[in-house]
Amino acid sequence: MRLHVANHPLIAHKLTKLRDERTESPTFRGLADELVTLLAYEATRDVRVDEVEVQTPVATAHGIKLATPKPLVVPILRAGLGMLDGMMRLLPTAEVGFLGMVRNEETLEASTYAERLPDDLTGRQCYVLDPMLATGGTLSAAIRFLVDRGAGQITAICLLSAPEGCSRVEDELGGVDIPLTVVTAGMDERLNEKGYIVPGLGDAGDRLYGLVG
Ligand code: URA
Repeated sequence: MRLHVANHPLIAHKLTKLRDERTESPTFRGLADELVTLLAYEATRDVRVDEVEVQTPVATAHGIKLATPKPLVVPILRAGLGMLDGMMRLLPTAEVGFLGMVRNEETLEASTYAERLPDDLTGRQCYVLDPMLATGGTLSAAIRFLVDRGAGQITAICLLSAPEGCSRVEDELGGVDIPLTVVTAGMDERLNEKGYIVPGLGDAGDRLYGLVG
């Protein structure tokens, strides 16, 4: 697995505001959106393209266009939804599939409760959106789901990550023979006993959408 931790002052600036407990949901959503677009720029560095020629008013130029099938963007519900617009701003013609995963707060294990994805993902390039790579259970399960459907390349975009989660994804998916990449805005210190990233930013879903129930 390739891990890319962003190293850019604008990303660090937005991440700092995102972490601040005084940042309220509307501002948090806007910052998350902007951060994802910046991360998506790095994450799509190897997006598949085809060569084309285009006629300018002066001459013929060689260029590229996105290859088909188009990339598939997969936000993990619920919190990954807060990353979708920021991603689609950069890849407006991508297709979008949804994966609903929930973490059992006692066992910290992830299970799938909803999916809206093509049955056959053979060779497809997939971008998974999951804000917090904490224990790694949800991301591992999501990547495994896509691999089992035939995905040809998977890049996860996470706002924040913990070393424990990265190790778990690497351990559980080490045998997968397609390119796997994690692009993240920051690598924090550790997890606490509840599986939250420290110092982190709290519960990403709650901070995006407020508490439910
Ligand atoms: N999920 C979150 O929303 N925050 C964490 O810190 C860990 C998992």
